[in-house]
Amino acid sequence: MKIAFPHMGNAYIPLKGLVEELGLEAVVPPRPSQVSLRRGALHSPEFVCLPFKVTLGDCMAALDQGADTLAMVCGMWACRFGYYGRIQHLILRDLGYEFESVLVGREEVEEVLAKLKGAVGRGWRRKLVRALAFFRAKARAVDELERMATWTRPREAVRGMADRVLGEYLAGVDAASTLGETRKRVEEARQAFRSIPLTGEPVARVRVVGELYVLLEPALNLDLVRRLAWNCRVEARPVLSTYRWLLHPVWLDPRLNLESYRARRKVRPYLPQVLGGEEHMTLAGALTARGDGFDGLIHALPLTCMPENICRTLLPDLCRKLDLPLLTLVFDEHTSTAGLDARLEAFTDLLVSRKGARRGIGNGPGREAFPHFLARGTQGIVSPRGRASPPQDF
Ligand code: SF4
Repeated sequence: MKIAFPHMGNAYIPLKGLVEELGLEAVVPPRPSQVSLRRGALHSPEFVCLPFKVTLGDCMAALDQGADTLAMVCGMWACRFGYYGRIQHLILRDLGYEFESVLVGREEVEEVLAKLKGAVGRGWRRKLVRALAFFRAKARAVDELERMATWTRPREAVRGMADRVLGEYLAGVDAASTLGETRKRVEEARQAFRSIPLTGEPVARVRVVGELYVLLEPALNLDLVRRLAWNCRVEARPVLSTYRWLLHPVWLDPRLNLESYRARRKVRPYLPQVLGGEEHMTLAGALTARGDGFDGLIHALPLTCMPENICRTLLPDLCRKLDLPLLTLVFDEHTSTAGLDARLEAFTDLLVSRKGARRGIGNGPGREAFPHFLARGTQGIVSPRGRASPPQDF
């Protein structure tokens, strides 16, 4: 079995680990790009949400690379994600591709297990337990590396150092063949991140909430987190993570399910219904942003996303009450970097002004508190006060 799955951020690392630990071959398509997006969009219904188009392009690339099985997780039936796998596979078969489908969803458990048993052969239960442990360890490792990079990127003295470390150790985690080796790579990465010189300047922090795929796939959100870190020196933290997306549906980390339950309870006064997406995390993320030390909120969603468009109507009023600056970004295949940069720059200006004013620096916008902000756009800003203060997040 040559099994393939669409991309979403760095999720391919644990998924590949899982498949290979089962003794099967993983086919990883190239990273999503304008080419794969255009290819997917060409064969997708016009008004379907953007992740459908990108993941369809990924599936086509994987089949061209020789995959004979496509795996897809089916979500709840309330939002379109529940139909992704089925509709995409119908489209691909109409296009003449021949392959096996593995649709991991609520109704498919026995069917999925039967296919797995057939492919893995004797001892499939034992192999599955080992593979799941490996999958979890790699997902956690990827999550930790991404967190360290997110913290370091806006504070690094020379642009690109955090990403160099991230790339090196993600490759190390991908290549790790044991649990111990995976853990060792994370510890080494921790040391490497700690050795990166920092500017020592304060940075504004924003929480990014919204649709899962747009939050976690840089090719889709035009590299939002990195763009904010490099161009605006803002630490942008998505409220969702690859780790959460991978482990939550299979209950491999019950804390995630508990967190989800708590979030749903918290947002019930604002949204009593379940919409089928990550709407509870979006609203709960907004409600807790101030308490978690964030200066603003970015709501990112694909055009025509059903649950997030409902959140979009709720968030302005909620954020006004919370005194939390809000920026809404809607992505589709026509979104350009020029328009995005202008909006991020204006939003950062607002955040920095408010943050500076709260610190009582000057009467005006308070930008004096952020000298690096005044030098925004320059490559590798090294502050005269530059020093490597210990990261607080790792
Ligand atoms: S959450 Fe939104 S973008 Fe994602 S599948 Fe559902 S409707 Fe589409």
